[in-house]
Amino acid sequence: MAQGVAVIAEYGNDGFRKISLEAVCEGKRLASELGQNLTAVVLGAEVAEGAAELAKYGADRIIVADDAQLKSFQAEPYANVLAAILQETEPSMVLMGATANGIELGARVAAKLQVGLANECTGFSLENGRLVATRPLYGGRVIAEVDIEGTPQMASVRPNMMKIEENEVPVEISRFAVDTGEVKVELLEENVVVSSKVELTEADYVISGGRGMNGDDFAILEELADLLGGAVGASRNAVDAGWRPHSDQVGQTGKVVSPKLYLACGISGAMQHTAGISTSNTIVAVNNDPDALIFRVADYCIVDDLFEVVPAITKEIRAI
Ligand code: FAD
Repeated sequence: MAQGVAVIAEYGNDGFRKISLEAVCEGKRLASELGQNLTAVVLGAEVAEGAAELAKYGADRIIVADDAQLKSFQAEPYANVLAAILQETEPSMVLMGATANGIELGARVAAKLQVGLANECTGFSLENGRLVATRPLYGGRVIAEVDIEGTPQMASVRPNMMKIEENEVPVEISRFAVDTGEVKVELLEENVVVSSKVELTEADYVISGGRGMNGDDFAILEELADLLGGAVGASRNAVDAGWRPHSDQVGQTGKVVSPKLYLACGISGAMQHTAGISTSNTIVAVNNDPDALIFRVADYCIVDDLFEVVPAITKEIRAI
């Protein structure tokens, strides 16, 4: 009979992603409530040594699929290997980070196992030993409680929603014999963008600019973001204008962010934008139009010229 909680943890050049640690800690909470074990699954190349770190966050068992063929994320081989691990270990629920890779991997594995998947979940509870996921719908206008069909129940966790707590337990580490199965796509070349900046989806502070930025004035947002150790985001109009790369786009067709503070500068607040920020802790908007839609979702509204307001905020923070 299926039992226990499994968490798929993403390991990169800088160690585990923050969202993976959040998912592991949430998995531990659920496993403890069920009186069952937490298994962490790590896929990649040369990840075995680093994987042991997950014991610090409560993993009772760590399964490592360590193989040169898994060096870079590719949906097909990763999904084949992960599906095989889940079929063998039979957890009753599986969590992963709602990252681009996590969402693609989760969808493929859920399809292979013919089970349900809830994406971008912001919380979980248990009902009669089954997972109930909370997730925002319609751009955050509805908060739904989702019953995920099948076993294992699969869900991805939205970044910055769960607490990371150390909770070291004795751990058993095992290696899974990797068989990537039939893979139809060959990775020919990889261009990795190395950045010292914090990833937008995991940032505690996101400073975003829209068409009101009026050109390449994002330096003032960069300065404030750097000061706070945060990241810069953008509306689609700012991206379409070529002022920021698409990887910075926040919203329905961009990234979903859940920072402690979201500062929207010169962004009108179209629903396609606010769909990506509804789970932010505090939203502050700066817009010179008092009727801007963004003020309907903002906790603090500053009706003024952003080119006056942003440097003034930066100056005040520097002075602290
Ligand atoms: P605008 O709507 O032009 O707003 C600019 C704002 O800046 C105005 O409110 C103005 O008052 C203010 N402003 C101007 N100058 C200043 C100043 N000096 N100081 C202060 N304020 C100033 N959009 C997204 O952002 N993300 C998405 O993922 C996304 N996906 C989409 C998907 C679909 C299918 C569609 C149809 C649209 C999508 N959009 C998305 C586009 C969205 O509908 C809006 O067009 C877009 O968000 C508007 O961008 P903006 O707020 O920067 O520009």
